[in-house]
Amino acid sequence: MPIQGHCALCGTFGNLCESHVRLPKFVFKRLRTPTAANPNPVHLSAMGVVQSSAQDTQPLLCSVCENDRFSMLGEKWVAHACLQDNNVTFPLVQSFINAGVARHDIMEGVSAFYAARVADIRHECIEYFAASMVWRGQFLIGNQYSLGPYDQQFRNYLLQKSQFPKDVSIHLFLRYRSNLTQLSHGVRRTRHDLTTIYDFAIPGLSFWVVVGKDRQDWAKQCCFHENGFRPIMELEQTDSLMHEQLVAVTAKAAANGRRSRLFSPTGQ
Ligand SMILES: [Zn+2]
Repeated sequence: MPIQGHCALCGTFGNLCESHVRLPKFVFKRLRTPTAANPNPVHLSAMGVVQSSAQDTQPLLCSVCENDRFSMLGEKWVAHACLQDNNVTFPLVQSFINAGVARHDIMEGVSAFYAARVADIRHECIEYFAASMVWRGQFLIGNQYSLGPYDQQFRNYLLQKSQFPKDVSIHLFLRYRSNLTQLSHGVRRTRHDLTTIYDFAIPGLSFWVVVGKDRQDWAKQCCFHENGFRPIMELEQTDSLMHEQLVAVTAKAAANGRRSRLFSPTGQ
């Protein structure tokens, strides 16, 4: 029996969908290895390393918000564009190659592909998806963050009542050069100078959503929404930063005295 209640986005009362609040459903599907003895994705946290089928869903949205908004306006296109199951096919990268678009240096040590030069890149879907991820992350039990004064702007945008939220930048990073390309994680919040950064990762792509009136110029220059060229950055350090975070997490887990319960994909 579906649970009834008020939709967290539009407020309509009725049946609620089991909405994915940590990572979208397509990411979980992509991280599974159906032929393995244990097909479930590996979860890393300071509590240990486990394989689990848990997907962190909650009765959150009505079917209109779940399907006609979150899925149709963002997720569906992003699922098609990001790194695919075979760990090789990457339609977003391929679209740059097909269009003959080269990388540009936009800052020292940072290069980017300009998505505005490729007609079939649906930038509005990328923006909607990023905003929906940050907004829904507020409802993940244990995440304990709130968009505070920005919540209403996000909500109105997601309901298609207003433009993309003011004072918000989106940074998009391609990852396709290492064995960490499939690494995915839900939204984390960190404070950085006068701004708040919400970051998450799906196969082949990492997102930073930078929120605050006092964002520095670099944040706007690299922003997929504010820079008319719509840069998608290729930062070689992205994977090494993620590797450092992985090492730190596993070290913390070991310090907590938790035994790693990681099983190999072959079950051995
Ligand atoms: Zn709704």
